[in-house]
Amino acid sequence: MFFKRSADSTALGNAAEPWEATPDAPLMSLRGVEKSFPAGAGQTFVLRRIAIDIKPGEFVSIMGPSGAGKSTLLHILGLHDSAWSGEYALMGQPIHKLPAKERSALQKRHIGFVFQSYHLLDNLTVYENIELPLSYRNVKKSERQSIVADVLDRFGIVAKKDLYPSQLSGGQQQLVGVARAVVASPAVILADEPTGNLHSGQAQEIMELFRHLNQQGTTIVQVTHSETNAAYGNRVIRLRDGFVEAP
Ligand code: ADP
Repeated sequence: MFFKRSADSTALGNAAEPWEATPDAPLMSLRGVEKSFPAGAGQTFVLRRIAIDIKPGEFVSIMGPSGAGKSTLLHILGLHDSAWSGEYALMGQPIHKLPAKERSALQKRHIGFVFQSYHLLDNLTVYENIELPLSYRNVKKSERQSIVADVLDRFGIVAKKDLYPSQLSGGQQQLVGVARAVVASPAVILADEPTGNLHSGQAQEIMELFRHLNQQGTTIVQVTHSETNAAYGNRVIRLRDGFVEAP
């Protein structure tokens, strides 16, 4: 196992040790991750004893019936949810021990997230929504302009750049959501049903884009119901009732 364990702790990862991207070192490693909600006098578990490793350069699909916990798991991987127990190491950083500020910095630096319900900022234009991840990373304005122009062009949404999300169809908002996730070339793209609202041609283009980014080294984890989309990946993690099913 890549993550060293200190003598007095069973925790994954150690913030003091820089992470080395070697082919066998997991980029994301979860052990005993659980999430539950209060229900009556007890708890309803949404995720149980999750233990998974995702290596750099993998393209993983999370599949399973509705309500199995797929989105919940993706939001934990993406550091959007901190209300869980267990251990999660991201690039060697023990997420379960990090303060919120450090989690947020890691998220902004390394993760692009495509939300099922888009989560675009309503008061920003398409251009400004796509530009946002670059501004978190201190990219100069002139460079930002050229990167965003390129992405708008690649996604065929140049004509929409000054519109607000409420002026777009669901499919257009989803495209902007994917554009925002990839614009800053993150190490990891996490995508929750990224093609759910796209017609089949657009869906194929997004999956081809993901394949291209993956071939260039981006690690991708998608939640999907589509066997066609899953076929773009190299591995499927199946969830059922909050448990990972044996492969
Ligand atoms: P999937 O993505 O596989 O469809 P989700 O991760 O969205 O599943 O949800 C997993 C389970 O967690 C569902 O049964 C859902 O009802 C439950 N759940 C999600 N949020 C809450 C909440 N705030 N309170 C109680 N249960 C919740």
